[in-house]
Amino acid sequence: MTQLDFPPTRTAALERLSRFLPHAGRDYAQLRNHDLPGNPHVSQLSPYLRHRVLTEEEVLASVLSRWSLSSAEKFVQEVVWRGYFKGWLERRPQVWEDYRRDVAGAWNRVQTEAGLRQSWEAACRGETGIDAFDHWAHELVETGYLHNHARMWFASIWCFTLELPWQLGADFFLRHLLDGDPASNTLSWRWVAGLHTRGKHYVARPANIAKYTDGRFRPEGLAPSPDPLRGPDHPPLQTLRETSPALPGRRTGLLLTEDELSPGWLLAGHDIAATLIVNGSAGRSPLQVSDGVREFTGALIEDSVTRYAEKLGPYEIVSDPGDVGVRLSDWAGRHGLEQVIIPHMPQGPARDLLVAPLERLGSSGVNIAEMRRPYDQAIWPHATAGFFKVKAKIPDVLDTLGLTRPKRGTAQD
Ligand SMILES: Cc1cc2nc3c(=O)[nH]c(=O)nc-3n(C[C@H](O)[C@H](O)[C@H](O)COP(=O)(O)OP(=O)(O)OC[C@H]3O[C@@H](n4cnc5c(N)ncnc54)[C@H](O)[C@@H]3O)c2cc1C
Repeated sequence: MTQLDFPPTRTAALERLSRFLPHAGRDYAQLRNHDLPGNPHVSQLSPYLRHRVLTEEEVLASVLSRWSLSSAEKFVQEVVWRGYFKGWLERRPQVWEDYRRDVAGAWNRVQTEAGLRQSWEAACRGETGIDAFDHWAHELVETGYLHNHARMWFASIWCFTLELPWQLGADFFLRHLLDGDPASNTLSWRWVAGLHTRGKHYVARPANIAKYTDGRFRPEGLAPSPDPLRGPDHPPLQTLRETSPALPGRRTGLLLTEDELSPGWLLAGHDIAATLIVNGSAGRSPLQVSDGVREFTGALIEDSVTRYAEKLGPYEIVSDPGDVGVRLSDWAGRHGLEQVIIPHMPQGPARDLLVAPLERLGSSGVNIAEMRRPYDQAIWPHATAGFFKVKAKIPDVLDTLGLTRPKRGTAQD
């Protein structure tokens, strides 16, 4: 598999979804943990879901039109994990801020401590001598994707056998994963380390790796019984930011980021005078983000503006993080905008770039209307503690979104 296996278009995402649908029931429940060449037992939809080229609602609706909830329960739960993590981070933004600060600190240490630098380089280059780990490091860099189980094993070996700072591992993932996501990535690394569910960590075991890689790997020398990492308590839960309404009769611009590339839901009733799209992917890391990630994200943005061409008005794309503040105010001024509508900006690099410039624009009298998708609105209020609370609400969430259907009792069930 190479990065070419993820064509950067919505058409490719829809084709992948339709190829996967027959496998979203029993096959997925039984086989999803097997990490095999070509990843035949998982959907590989995450690079598209991450950027909402394809949305969670669409995926769930397709799956539930073919399978009953009980048959596709496992897959539905996994899709909902993404929303859980996103909601959890929205409610504890400090965790993202701390992560950004700690990556910068760890990167300074890499530059000044020769031993750390050597181990970090060996890990990122796949030259540790742990065959499975080295294989996954190469696979990640070459393909921009790793199976979930490989991500868990890799993160566990990084933290507990190589004893490298988890933040540098999360950063390595973010620089290379096409689906690199501030919430899923940061919180999954914290989960493996024992910092998300406090004191409960994930320990990679040679027998488990051998079983789920079809005997391809049985690494030796892994830390057999490491302690979980320690860290400060979770910051207090914050209430979700209020959404701010769009006002009628104002000359309106649309601001998008790589976090939301299917903006149809917020265009209804608005005549868009101009659109600005900020590609924040280069800001994922203090280090250089891979060409694969930047090209994939850039091409998805181009695909999206082609799809919505008639509704966006004249559009501009900003890819250089250094330009964002100036370009935003210049764009709003040139188009005489009185209002800018934005889909909710989740914690992450694009938001980090835009918060201050948007505040400045707002104080100059332009109405900033930030709106939240009904899907996020349905899940995030429950993302206050562990996943179990959200899991228990899945039937209600699906009902609220109109995604449940009467049980059919077909052979697929
Ligand atoms: C250390 C680590 C880092 C991770 N970093 C990221 C990341 O940066 N971006 C990212 O999208 N996912 C991340 N994940 C979660 C998960 O590994 C991927 O979402 C999944 O492997 C994507 O492959 P898929 O689409 O084939 O998944 P499938 O198994 O087909 O699942 C379908 C969808 O459900 C969601 N999903 C599945 N598993 C998870 C999970 N454990 N957590 C959250 N959502 C999930 C994804 O949207 C996925 O596309 C990480 C997991 C770990 C352990």
